[in-house]
Amino acid sequence: MKRILVTGGAGFIGSHLCERLLGEGNDVICLDNFFTGRKVNISHLMESPFFEVIRHDVIEPVLLEVDQIYNLACPASPVHYQFNPVKTIKTNIMGALNMLGLAKRVGARILQASTSEVYGNPLVHPQTEDYWGNANPIGPRACYDEGKRCAETLMFAYHRQNGVDIKVVRIFNTYGPRMLENDGRVVSNFIVQALKGSDITVYGDGSQTRSFCYIDDMVDGLVRMMNNDEVSGPVNLGNPCEFTVKELADKVVKLTGSASGISYKPLPQDDPEQRQPDITTAKKVLGWEPAIKLEEGLRRSIEYFSKRINGAKDACKA
Ligand code: NAD
Ligand code: UDP
Repeated sequence: MKRILVTGGAGFIGSHLCERLLGEGNDVICLDNFFTGRKVNISHLMESPFFEVIRHDVIEPVLLEVDQIYNLACPASPVHYQFNPVKTIKTNIMGALNMLGLAKRVGARILQASTSEVYGNPLVHPQTEDYWGNANPIGPRACYDEGKRCAETLMFAYHRQNGVDIKVVRIFNTYGPRMLENDGRVVSNFIVQALKGSDITVYGDGSQTRSFCYIDDMVDGLVRMMNNDEVSGPVNLGNPCEFTVKELADKVVKLTGSASGISYKPLPQDDPEQRQPDITTAKKVLGWEPAIKLEEGLRRSIEYFSKRINGAKDACKA
């Protein structure tokens, strides 16, 4: 049994990770400031004597004794990370510094959740880990992109200077149950819109691409990376099957059987035109590749959002 800290543990990816780690017999500490995380994401874990929750902000240091740290704390949706850009920068940089300081003091292994956004609007396609990216350092996404780039820099600096045992993964668009209904990210937006019969909001002409990874595959990749003794990273984690945003909209409409139409909205500034992970490294060193196809992942997500939306309606009637 290991004692494992998950920062951002009440969020979308973090809550699934806590569940998996607890299920494998570990002692799990979830640390979260509940900005985009929710207690309901982890309430089912509360009964376990091996699960603890700390309301804390990673921009402040924390004193704990742990064996492993997954540093996930940071809003991931553009809407949320642009809400308070300065806070997003602090979360990424001071959060990484504080968690690295903790890892150094107690000799813990630390995994940093980085992002495909470090590649910015990529000119190399698909993206390989050795590509340095094409990010705008002063645009509206910079608080997140540059924050994560600096978090990666800090990881490697602590590794070289202090011998901290680091792991860096670059996560590509991940989706599934427990995303917020008003999260602002494309998969949750489209599903919620389709289920409510509202127009599907496609930004731009919908020709931009993303590659969508189902949450269970992502969690498996994170755990494999943490427990791998060979590489520090960075390692891309994501599903290499690439779709246009318009294709995603059509799939969601079909799978929900919705009568929703499509409403085209302006493309946000610096929105990457294409994104697809090259996962050769993950396949080779982690023996990992996603198993869940987009249609299956969407079906599971639709079921989840449908229950949440109908549950809210029932609560209003009661
Ligand atoms: P999320 O917004 O659901 O979860 C983030 C969690 O971090 C939330 O519980 C939030 O309350 C918490 N948090 C935010 N700021 C904090 C702070 N200062 N102190 C403590 N807790 C804080 O997002 P997610 O999709 O679960 O993403 C988790 C991590 O994975 C993030 O670091 C994100 O950058 C990274 N990531 C996610 C994706 C994706 O597609 N989901 C893609 C790339 C990278
Ligand atoms: N998008 C869209 N409609 C929405 C939300 C997002 O067309 O309601 C587009 C967005 O412009 C981007 C893609 O979907 O091109 C993925 O957006 P998301 O916010 O999920 O993540 P990103 O990969 O941009 O960080």
